[in-house]
Amino acid sequence: MRKVFGIDIGGTDIKLGIVDEKGVVLEGASIPTRGSEGIESAAVRVKEWLDGHGASAEGIDAAGVGCAGFIDAARGYLYVSPNLPVWENVELGRIFKGVLGMRVVIENDANCAAWGEYVLGAGMGKDPFICITLGTGIGGGIVIGGKIYHGWQGLAGELGHQTISSDGPECSCGRIGCLEAFANASSIVSRAAGMKHNGEEGVLTSAEVAAAALKGDRIAIDALAEAGRSLGVGLANIVHMLNPEVIAVGGGVAGAGDLILEPARESMKKRLIEQVLAEVKIVPTELGHRSTLLGAAMLALECFE
Ligand SMILES: [Zn+2]
Repeated sequence: MRKVFGIDIGGTDIKLGIVDEKGVVLEGASIPTRGSEGIESAAVRVKEWLDGHGASAEGIDAAGVGCAGFIDAARGYLYVSPNLPVWENVELGRIFKGVLGMRVVIENDANCAAWGEYVLGAGMGKDPFICITLGTGIGGGIVIGGKIYHGWQGLAGELGHQTISSDGPECSCGRIGCLEAFANASSIVSRAAGMKHNGEEGVLTSAEVAAAALKGDRIAIDALAEAGRSLGVGLANIVHMLNPEVIAVGGGVAGAGDLILEPARESMKKRLIEQVLAEVKIVPTELGHRSTLLGAAMLALECFE
């Protein structure tokens, strides 16, 4: 059975996996990104990890790399990554190909997650298929006609930066009114600021808000519902534009499940013009924290036969 190398580059860690063609991770690890040391250094440490897995790594001739940021996949080019400020305007694909000595495909991390879900998870057999990742940022990926849809410059699928209001809090991109600013992790945390959490002082995390909501904390439930209603506005826009059968929602914030998804579904349905559009299913992703890694690996299989 063929094996490929999956790489998921985040601001803090790089997840690595030797993955077979059925999507089984045979060996996996997480190493620090150390973004400030530069891309070559990261690529060399990735190669060292692979070299240390002799038998499992044998026969691997292709890798898929998922990375947060604005990426032109066709050129393997990273314009800018919010979590890796030093990695700006760089040929990510060429560097990894050179260091790893194999064929490499580069893709935005949310596009990888969408591809992983399309091939192995919640999007199997669904086309068009949309995947949204809720976390510190809100990412998106669009699969149409069995391919990731990239747009003219490779930047399609920035679903978190769709405008859902003519005003509102400032988004990480510097603009106002973006879905991300209304429904990301920090928006939920700031709405839940009045929540009691074991009487301790300190900054909450969105996971703590979700945990409190699951135990019935009213402020936490309301904070998630508010984010869900904003998400629903964004979902309605996507459905009107692309008429998908399924939209999968994943990422850390989506761990709250129906506490965020149900308000999102209700808010979306109120805004959809036709009953037929309201048949769209909003479901959780199925691959968990490995969706980007698996998607990157499956993309390498797809691109390099
Ligand atoms: Zn934005």
